[in-house]
Amino acid sequence: MMETYEDIRASVRALAAGFPGEYWRTLDRERGYPTAFVQAMTEAGFLAVLIPEAYGGSGLGIGAAAAILEEVHKQGGNGGACHAQMYVMGTLLRHGSEAQKAAYLPGIAAGELRLQAFAVTEPTSGTDTSRIRTTAVRDGDAYVVNGQKVWTSRAEHSDLMLLLARTAPREAGEKPHDGMSVFLLDMRQALGHGLSIRPLRAMINHHTTEVFFDELRIPADSLIGEEGRGFRYLLDGLNAERILIAAEAIGDARWFIEKARTYATERVVFDRPIGQNQGIQFPIARAYAATEAADLMVNKAAALFDGGEACGAEANMAKLLAADASWQAADMCLQTHGGFGFAEEYDVERKFRETRLFQVAPISTNLVLAYLAEHVLGLPRSY
Ligand SMILES: Cc1cc2nc3c(=O)[nH]c(=O)nc-3n(C[C@H](O)[C@H](O)[C@H](O)COP(=O)(O)OP(=O)(O)OC[C@H]3O[C@@H](n4cnc5c(N)ncnc54)[C@H](O)[C@@H]3O)c2cc1C
Repeated sequence: MMETYEDIRASVRALAAGFPGEYWRTLDRERGYPTAFVQAMTEAGFLAVLIPEAYGGSGLGIGAAAAILEEVHKQGGNGGACHAQMYVMGTLLRHGSEAQKAAYLPGIAAGELRLQAFAVTEPTSGTDTSRIRTTAVRDGDAYVVNGQKVWTSRAEHSDLMLLLARTAPREAGEKPHDGMSVFLLDMRQALGHGLSIRPLRAMINHHTTEVFFDELRIPADSLIGEEGRGFRYLLDGLNAERILIAAEAIGDARWFIEKARTYATERVVFDRPIGQNQGIQFPIARAYAATEAADLMVNKAAALFDGGEACGAEANMAKLLAADASWQAADMCLQTHGGFGFAEEYDVERKFRETRLFQVAPISTNLVLAYLAEHVLGLPRSY
């Protein structure tokens, strides 16, 4: 039977009620960080659900985390300010040493330490991660880091950063993805000593940044696992990320559908509710059907993940279908609202901008399709 986490959802709804549209709207205008919301999520324990009980978390599965994020988005909020605090630690949990886990996980679980910066993307490499240029060179008991990242979200609101850097040239390995390593970087010590962060204003309020490394020395024990295997370590966290982002998209879609349904029922033009017109009600019904179908795939992927089974195809399909469903619902909702869809006070335009992100990040739709074509359908690799 499908686990619905109704009790968790009810608690998230109660929390979200304290952060209405106006809260998010004001922050959006000022590009502010939702500190009070993140604090409330932390205190409720929602950001520590994936951390095992032994380290102070609640040891729940991805299904529970997905329910939390879906509900945040369904209530009109946005989990982007803190969702990475839930899952970036997965790399540390799965591949870190006992000493690293003991040093960091309890603090992360308690919310005293923020690990929600994930620095992979670089300006010149794009989706081709094997071509990153940031390097970490071993020098005695340290690594010296040089390079640049872009779109490192929440770096200004994080104590720690998970960093992917080259420790060996691309050409030196058997495969292009060999020779990259992953580091748990303590930004509190690094800021001003070779690490600088520059905010990157964007279409949505996502607290994203550019990060520069200039001869930054970090302790050698910042390395997670073995040198050169970093990309593999990240890979198994990507399915978790895709499932959780898909859940956020489902939440958005459901918010748009409910918003449109209500407006179409109440708005009277030509002496009848606009929702009486099939031209208005059919797109709402279509968006609803697409969302319900995508949600089934999200649940399937989450169940496989929590059962410890392979779920690459399902996690990718969940992300693809949910992102499409949320964008379809967003477009429908804006159209249903007519001119008022553009007015800030309805929150539709804000959510419309926010949900568009899922077509591009954390992985773009084309790359999901390329994955399915190559790895599931056996078609020739296209790039
Ligand atoms: C708001 C925001 C927050 C982000 N947060 C983070 C973060 O915290 N950490 C992080 O590391 N990154 C982050 N990213 C980066 C994000 O993961 C990338 O933007 C995304 O993966 C796409 O990479 P790119 O921008 O380099 O696009 P490119 O790789 O330059 O691609 C551009 C376009 O070409 C298409 N394309 C490229 N190659 C192919 C191909 N072979 N076949 C078909 N189409 C192709 C892509 O689908 C895309 O539409 C964030 C991005 C945004 C916008």
